[in-house]
Amino acid sequence: MIIVTGGSGFIGSNFIIDWLTRFDEELVNIDIMTYAANNDNLKDIIKKDIYSFAQEDICNYDEIFTILKKNKPRAIFNFAAESFVDRSIKGPDVFIKTNINGTYNLLKASYDYWLSLTEDKKSSFRFIHISTDEVYGSLSLSEPAFTEKNQYLPNSPYSASKASSDHLVRCFNHTYYLPTLITNCSNNYGPHQHQEKLIPKIIKNALEFNEIPIFGKGQQIRDWLYVKDHVDAIITVFEKGTIGETYNIGGGNEKNNIDVANHVCGLLDELSPIENKKIKNYSQLIRFVEDRPGHDFRYAINCSKIRKQLRWVPKETFESGIKKTIKWYLKSKI
Ligand code: NAD
Repeated sequence: MIIVTGGSGFIGSNFIIDWLTRFDEELVNIDIMTYAANNDNLKDIIKKDIYSFAQEDICNYDEIFTILKKNKPRAIFNFAAESFVDRSIKGPDVFIKTNINGTYNLLKASYDYWLSLTEDKKSSFRFIHISTDEVYGSLSLSEPAFTEKNQYLPNSPYSASKASSDHLVRCFNHTYYLPTLITNCSNNYGPHQHQEKLIPKIIKNALEFNEIPIFGKGQQIRDWLYVKDHVDAIITVFEKGTIGETYNIGGGNEKNNIDVANHVCGLLDELSPIENKKIKNYSQLIRFVEDRPGHDFRYAINCSKIRKQLRWVPKETFESGIKKTIKWYLKSKI
């Protein structure tokens, strides 16, 4: 069986749905259920008898260790985190607690559990830590995309806390030989993402005919990856990755925020045409607002390592993935 932490959030729930479609293996989801979690994300999964849920905090050593000892997982996938940069600027404390102390605690409990395994099970056990490209800091237009060898230069409380968690994971492998792997992925989009994030916010505000706020002049550049491609990459790293290694994951889709907003609005014009309103198209709702403090200008990810060594490639282009995403939000009526 496997353990997933943070499985009721955006990427974790997409991972659980994909995993339980592919494999007939027990899975326990440990999630404290913060504002970012949503029970609806797993509404079709909870009926399966190979799925179970524990509402628990990854910071709680005793409870986490008990769950591990009882269930005897062959792998732990750590998605649990505070994940929104704007919230991290307003209130960093919980980011330090969950992303740093929580990851440390999960590593400690995993290590103590791992020590109790037979040699065979010890060597097949994996701890997969899901992280972000934001740990590498910000690029200018002319700088090359981040490789796994880039220096960590995090700029926000969110990225600094994720960077710290990556260092802790690395150290548990290097010092204690816990079989860990780290993935650093670019911006995800797709079903189940919280409405505070850029793409769901554009869709929701447009459909409600509210202003669509875009930071600064919308020139910041991000690389975008469809969430199901991210999930596929994580499973590939779990199955084929080398212990102790880090793998960058990206979509090869660098876009600035204003282009993303205009593209989403254009698709909404096509898929949910405006009738009887003063505005003719959704992009007329876009408004530039005061920029985020310390806003990173550009992230770009070089994922040739996972492409070459593990033969992973994304299946969706930005155009195909975003169309699926918008159709999902229209159908889900969120
Ligand atoms: P999310 O905010 O949607 O979900 C996080 C989940 O973790 C929630 O269900 C929440 O309840 C749970 N959680 C939070 N604190 C917890 C705690 N103390 N104990 C147990 N559970 C807790 O986040 P997401 O977008 O799904 O991101 C998942 C992971 O992927 C994060 O580590 C994030 O840094 C990373 N990541 C996200 C993106 C992205 O674009 N969203 C890109 C790259 C990497």
